[in-house]
Amino acid sequence: MKKLIFSICIFFSFAITAHTVDVRILSTMSVTTVNVSVHTGTYLLYLDGKPQPDSLTTKVFQLIEINDSIEVRIPGDTIGRFVSFRIVALEDSSVFKIKPIKPFSGTRIYDHSLLITVVNGFLQCINSVALDHYVAGVVESEAGGRTSKEFYKVQAILCRTYALAHLYRHVTEGFDVCDGVHCQAYRGRPSDLNVLSAVKETEGLVIVDQNLILITPAFFSNCGGQTANSEDVWSVSVPYLRSVKDTFCLHSTNATWKRKIAKEDWLSYLASKHKYPINDSLACYNAMNMTQSTRGASYCYAGVKIPYKTIRADWQLRSAYFSIEEAKDSIIIRGRGYGHGVGLCQEGAIRMAKLGYSYEWILNYYYKNVEIINLSKLEFFKEE
Ligand SMILES: [Zn+2]
Ligand SMILES: [Zn+2]
Repeated sequence: MKKLIFSICIFFSFAITAHTVDVRILSTMSVTTVNVSVHTGTYLLYLDGKPQPDSLTTKVFQLIEINDSIEVRIPGDTIGRFVSFRIVALEDSSVFKIKPIKPFSGTRIYDHSLLITVVNGFLQCINSVALDHYVAGVVESEAGGRTSKEFYKVQAILCRTYALAHLYRHVTEGFDVCDGVHCQAYRGRPSDLNVLSAVKETEGLVIVDQNLILITPAFFSNCGGQTANSEDVWSVSVPYLRSVKDTFCLHSTNATWKRKIAKEDWLSYLASKHKYPINDSLACYNAMNMTQSTRGASYCYAGVKIPYKTIRADWQLRSAYFSIEEAKDSIIIRGRGYGHGVGLCQEGAIRMAKLGYSYEWILNYYYKNVEIINLSKLEFFKEE
């Protein structure tokens, strides 16, 4: 029987590891105590790498960090202290629950396997999960509640492409990606069935450029009518991240914004940070009456060049696509859109999806000269 379980374990771990991602979960918390239990499916439990009896796997475990070890408790008993605690999923439908106790936080539900060790005095929790289950969790965290399945397909392809292009980010720390915004937000198994079927229906699809390299699938909330060229925001010209006109997002929540700044604060900022000639009356007038009818990169006057992205960062504006008009004692900044503006405009894409445009059409609208390709074909072409 043990041999059979071992063979099954090898089989499933191969099936799951075909495209498995090791995600550090609870990465933004300094956790010292967690409760872990099996939610559904079958698991094997390993303590310090040694397999444990099946009967133990169904318990609720409490894991406490003590002197760089993990004390493992079950109701009414302490099992001992260990260096590692691992539960290995034997089925694709195996799901576990984890609840931080110190610090206290809500229960989260994750697909597949879990490894807990101690790193720098805290519990490090790594969820080994099949790529598309991870993608589904990311789609729900990054774009949940938007209801349209076609939009979820767009987001699934973006999240899958991004994940595969950034698997090296934490390689020296022993996992692939973290669950914070540093990589992609991931809070576990999604609850929206539309998300799950969108991921399933786009299984394996990623976006590549003309050299079959995975693209950087930049996206943001709203472009305000025109997306940005990559070089105007990140100083690097990327062939597929070109400015496009977009009327689809113009009536969405983040299409416009307004900000009032005292005239004297604005002028002293220009003078002190940018050496702008505010004593020149025409220069002064222009700096309080600037217009971006189409997206520009910089405000230029009298030999002074101020990138709009710098103004955005310094004043924490919602976007770098704005015009300025003079009022009595202030300037009014009237802005368009929300976010850096490079790549796909989420609110435009949501509208297109609602109007019946396909995910292929939407992706090709925002990313220029790219191919949507299945990973298996990509691997085939790379071997050619
Ligand atoms: Zn990260
Ligand atoms: Zn837009």
